[in-house]
Amino acid sequence: MDEVSTAATVFYPELRGKRAVVTGAGKGIGAETVDGLITQGCYIIAISRTQADLDKLKQKYDSTKIETILLDITHWNEVDNIFSKLEPFHYLINNAGIAICGPFLQVSEQDIDSVFGVNVKACLHVAQCAAKKMLENKIKGVVVNISSQASKRPIKDHTMYCCTKAALDMLTKMMSLELGPSEIRTVSVNPTVVMTDMGRKNWSEPSKSESMLSQIPLRRFAEVDEVVKPILFCLSDGAAMINGCDVNIDGGFVSA
Ligand code: NAP
Repeated sequence: MDEVSTAATVFYPELRGKRAVVTGAGKGIGAETVDGLITQGCYIIAISRTQADLDKLKQKYDSTKIETILLDITHWNEVDNIFSKLEPFHYLINNAGIAICGPFLQVSEQDIDSVFGVNVKACLHVAQCAAKKMLENKIKGVVVNISSQASKRPIKDHTMYCCTKAALDMLTKMMSLELGPSEIRTVSVNPTVVMTDMGRKNWSEPSKSESMLSQIPLRRFAEVDEVVKPILFCLSDGAAMINGCDVNIDGGFVSA
């Protein structure tokens, strides 16, 4: 069998010394993205809302590689305040997101506010703060919005999640249109199921996972590393002309 490469075996020298903000850095895709970026020689500003997760990051990497910020990105004024004080940075990995699943007829007002509050409102606000900072500092930066295959196909019991990720893809297009002239690129990456805490919560039940797997031509879910590597590529010079598009990491689900 061929050796499977990890994010660490992909190397983009142009990422070395760059500064990257990662939201939702405490767990799952965000935490692995932090790892991939540090391996490339980036300095990380890791944002998440559970102190214990941030403490783990601080234990794992020394302070020359990472700083951590405890922040719930739905707290509008706090986000403004924190971003206004950040040193300039080159990349935003706009990753924090939540999923509340259930039948369409049972979607509650509170659930709508929660999911739209994080996945759309807060992600837009964080992207806005990041873009302002890049513009102020004349940085030709990159924003990667972590979307989902759920933005493109309806998935049973995922009304709010599908709607919010579709909105995020449009945010990517809007940002690419309005920030492109300042040489700030924006892309979405759209993974299939990944067995993080979020993935396990929603897809561990065999009847659900088997139905989803049968619709993915490659017949498997994505490994976290298979999401991190495309993120790194999107930041690299190899993606210099890639702007405003969605990168599907879905084994063919959306196309099938
Ligand atoms: P995860 O394991 O649940 O981790 C999400 C991280 O985001 C956690 O550290 C969480 O902090 C943080 N977070 C959530 N809301 C936040 C807020 N308001 N402010 C600050 N931090 C917040 O999820 P994941 O699977 O890594 O998902 C990461 C992204 O990928 C999400 O946008 C998700 O929609 C997307 N995605 C996931 C999958 C999948 O199957 N896993 C598939 C496609 C796309 P706490 O734990 O402290 O709440």
